[in-house]
Amino acid sequence: MQSKPNILLIYTGGTIGMMKDFETGALKAFNFKKLLQKIPELQQLDCDIETISFEKPIDSSNISPDKWITIATIIEDNYVKFDGFVVLHGSDTMSYSASALSFLLENLNKPVIFTGSQLPIGDLRTDAKENLITAIQIASLHQKGKPAVQEVCLYFEYKLYRGNRTTKINAEHFNAFSSPNFPPLAESGVHLKINSNIVLQKKGHKKLVVHKQLNDDVVVVKMFPGINELVLSSIIAIPNLKGIILETYGSGNAPNEDWFINTLKKAIKSGLHIINVTQCSGGSVNMGQYETSTQLKKIGIISGKDITTEAAITKLMYLLGQNVAPSVFKTIFETSLRGEMQ
Ligand code: ASP
Repeated sequence: MQSKPNILLIYTGGTIGMMKDFETGALKAFNFKKLLQKIPELQQLDCDIETISFEKPIDSSNISPDKWITIATIIEDNYVKFDGFVVLHGSDTMSYSASALSFLLENLNKPVIFTGSQLPIGDLRTDAKENLITAIQIASLHQKGKPAVQEVCLYFEYKLYRGNRTTKINAEHFNAFSSPNFPPLAESGVHLKINSNIVLQKKGHKKLVVHKQLNDDVVVVKMFPGINELVLSSIIAIPNLKGIILETYGSGNAPNEDWFINTLKKAIKSGLHIINVTQCSGGSVNMGQYETSTQLKKIGIISGKDITTEAAITKLMYLLGQNVAPSVFKTIFETSLRGEMQ
């Protein structure tokens, strides 16, 4: 590695770079160059920073699979030149994007750190500066001649998380994210210490593979008491539908009434992949623990174990995009590919 790490800052949009519209008072994205002028501190960092911006920065509610592929392609095109990547992104869908990128970037051996903020960078009380500066420092960090982090992460409010383990939990607090089933990879205090025991360790020298196919013929269905046959069967009848993330109760439980089980059974027989994830914010699916999940296991529902809904839906899009054969789909989904599940 050269003496100073080379970091690429990828600006996609989000509150971090927003300003109030004079007419409506609503926050909207503005020019990235102006954004950087608000942070002279960046020049004091011991790394070289180059920037690249979405032509039209977006509120992250407008993120989509094709934009995830755009981010992945930017990383691919710049992979050799840079030591690490920081992606500035709105917090609303940041966990989805970090999860998606973790699947798209196979054999990643450099840091990709997502960050953003709850208040615009121009705001006096902004959380943007700390988030951005520390994210860049983490992306620059080397230990024993290797990048300290070699995976897709999310840095927010003093904590570095595995990106595909996170979920946005608060629309107001600076502490907006949590990683309910996996500890933070690092906490930033007086010292910045990476927990080397739990970061993904890369063995060998496999070349980066950037996947560019995602299939969005998918849906998330959240169970609720009162869901009826017409509603469920209408969802299953969506033309071209390939997969369902079923958010069930507790450790993966759902009604064991005949109409419910039979509707799902028919769907699986017709080729749909149905993944059981819990709607609890922490813990794992364990089909068979209760009578109300035993049938689900028998009819071939896939266990999402302790995966987040964000990682589950993006993993589903990714595996469908890979045209994984139906005979191995369940086994591959139930296998941790990027540290997203136990
Ligand atoms: N609505 C914004 C976005 O996700 C919120 C944020 O940046 O925190 O783009």
